[in-house]
Amino acid sequence: MKHFEVPSGYRSHFITAIKEKRKEEDKLKKDFSPTLIDLGKVKFYLARHFGFCYGVENAIDIAYKTIEENKGKRIFLLSEMIHNPQVNEDLLKKGVQFLQDTDGNEIIPLSNLSKEDIVIIPAFGTTLELEKKINKIGIEIQKYNTTCPFVEKVWNRGDQIAKKGFTVIIHGKPKHEETRATFSHAADKTPTLIVNDMQETIVLGKFIIGKLPLEEFKIYFKNRYNDILDPDIHFEKIGVINQTTQLASDTQAISDYLKNIIISKYGKENISAHFADTRDTLCYATNDNQSAVVGLLEQAGDLAIVMGGKNSSNSSHLVELCEKKLPTYFIDDANKIIDHQQIIKNNWMTKQSELVTNFLPNKSTISILMTSGASCPDIVVESVIRRIVGFYELDEKLDSVIAKWMTE
Ligand code: SF4
Repeated sequence: MKHFEVPSGYRSHFITAIKEKRKEEDKLKKDFSPTLIDLGKVKFYLARHFGFCYGVENAIDIAYKTIEENKGKRIFLLSEMIHNPQVNEDLLKKGVQFLQDTDGNEIIPLSNLSKEDIVIIPAFGTTLELEKKINKIGIEIQKYNTTCPFVEKVWNRGDQIAKKGFTVIIHGKPKHEETRATFSHAADKTPTLIVNDMQETIVLGKFIIGKLPLEEFKIYFKNRYNDILDPDIHFEKIGVINQTTQLASDTQAISDYLKNIIISKYGKENISAHFADTRDTLCYATNDNQSAVVGLLEQAGDLAIVMGGKNSSNSSHLVELCEKKLPTYFIDDANKIIDHQQIIKNNWMTKQSELVTNFLPNKSTISILMTSGASCPDIVVESVIRRIVGFYELDEKLDSVIAKWMTE
């Protein structure tokens, strides 16, 4: 895989050594069992795959090179580059300014920009509408484009089915930057609709088979579809693509549900004419990290800690998986662990933070399962381990375990 220049402050030598060793032993990525860091009283189990993905490293590399090569110029990012507070704060400290918040609300009006400015497209990509507006100012927006190639792959998949006359159904979070960008690219070519979850998919299914009056479609799916979509005729041929970071099982269930709806309407023998076989468009990192969490959860544990930004979709899904099995704490920084009893965790659904007490059980040995999202620097994982280890005065033991990993 391509090597990217990422600030050394985001790396952890210790975690890198573990990842490289696991990679060396399992080149085909077939082993999803976790890595044990055994300190006696405290045992940490690290997921087989976690942390920075290709798209995030690519975006950080381009952004830092852009800053380096354009000293003295004003540099803007369309929105947060990735959903990680540390990375975004570091960019702000370097003078980069964000034009929009993560929901697409304006922070700096485009009228403040001039053609001498630099504008960077974030890893999620952007909408064609915004791209056009920036180009109109005279800024070459494509010159500093950090859109992840795996997001572009989804757009290409949408293009392919659009060309064959299919309506595109996007399974994604409607407000998420990536879903808004994917919607814009698909909607430019074909009737397009966003569904957030299975509940909405079931309602869509009822419209498709005529169980709900089409007049209600406009109300139920307000702001979720483009003007050219006529629900009366454009659900005869549909295909599903998704946000790259969705939960694999959710997308599969949604796609299967719609496929069955289409079969019930047109018959199994006509399915290929009415339902595009797209498979899911999740990226490799989402698949690897979710599979690694499934492997991690086969291990008994007292609690799980998932590290990542509260707006990070892929991290939230890792939390969702862990929460089904054991108490799970979603944090973006080691400082969220106040002491050996208290932790401030994020709620992945409401995005609100909550103070939890007695999060570390009072037992002779504690097993902690750990993972992090694709936009979370490995140094955060090491800091969280060090913070917990400090409560048990196991720092020296950890250092000797680290030294062993580094020399093996
Ligand atoms: S999570 Fe996947 S799609 Fe998103 S930036 Fe990483 S590799 Fe790209």
